[in-house]
Amino acid sequence: TGGPPLLQVSALHTRYGRVEALGGIDLHVPEGHIVSVIGANGAGKTTLLNSVMGVLPVSGQVVYAGQSVAGVPLEARVQRGMSLVPERRELFGSMTVHDNLRLGAYVRRRQDWPSDLERVFTRFPRLRERQRQLAGTLSGGEQQMLAIGRALMARPRLLLLDEPSLGLAPLIVRDILSIVQTLRQDGVTILLVEQNARASLAISDSAYVLETGCVTLSGPAAELAANPELTASYLGG
Ligand code: ATP
Repeated sequence: TGGPPLLQVSALHTRYGRVEALGGIDLHVPEGHIVSVIGANGAGKTTLLNSVMGVLPVSGQVVYAGQSVAGVPLEARVQRGMSLVPERRELFGSMTVHDNLRLGAYVRRRQDWPSDLERVFTRFPRLRERQRQLAGTLSGGEQQMLAIGRALMARPRLLLLDEPSLGLAPLIVRDILSIVQTLRQDGVTILLVEQNARASLAISDSAYVLETGCVTLSGPAAELAANPELTASYLGG
């Protein structure tokens, strides 16, 4: 903490044709933190991650590691250490676990992918056991592990995670979020998008609440978890 944020987003606007999906977002992600973005269906969470990653054209500023990434193509962002784990996994279901992971390294054109693979297998022993299995036949939790593992193959400094708990049973959600915590311990900075507000606040340093494309609340995660407004609308109480 203290230093400049790893990611700084200012006045970010994103539109789909005439529809404005993000109406001027300001947020920052300090290095070494987990920052979560909470919001209902359609609030713009996925749009925010795709905008930061450069998958969508935006107006406003995205500054990563002290430099604007305006006009920087996706592959170059990955090479600089930004990595996105998309919603609903987007794995190659008819390819093996091993080959899905290898593709994660390809994006970064890493020559030393076998050692990256070994590191992912050490973190996710289940993936090692199932490396010859087709990704489409994994359980939901295993698929999410594979999606995260694939992103780790690019050795990210900033990991953008889109609803990793989507569709998973509560116990598996806990596993996945504790994996996210261990990634932070290893020095990866994380921007986490979640509908599961309580679980994500529990592992986050700070958080932003997104409603119809705008930030309506933000602050330290512990403060937000105790905020009555948030309790009423997002924390089921
Ligand atoms: P969810 O959790 O349901 O994915 P979200 O918070 O991630 O929700 P977005 O997917 O970012 O929300 O969608 C934000 C808004 O933009 C929604 O109103 C959505 O209908 C709209 N939108 C998203 N993608 C497109 C698209 N490709 N074309 C037009 N409108 C879109």
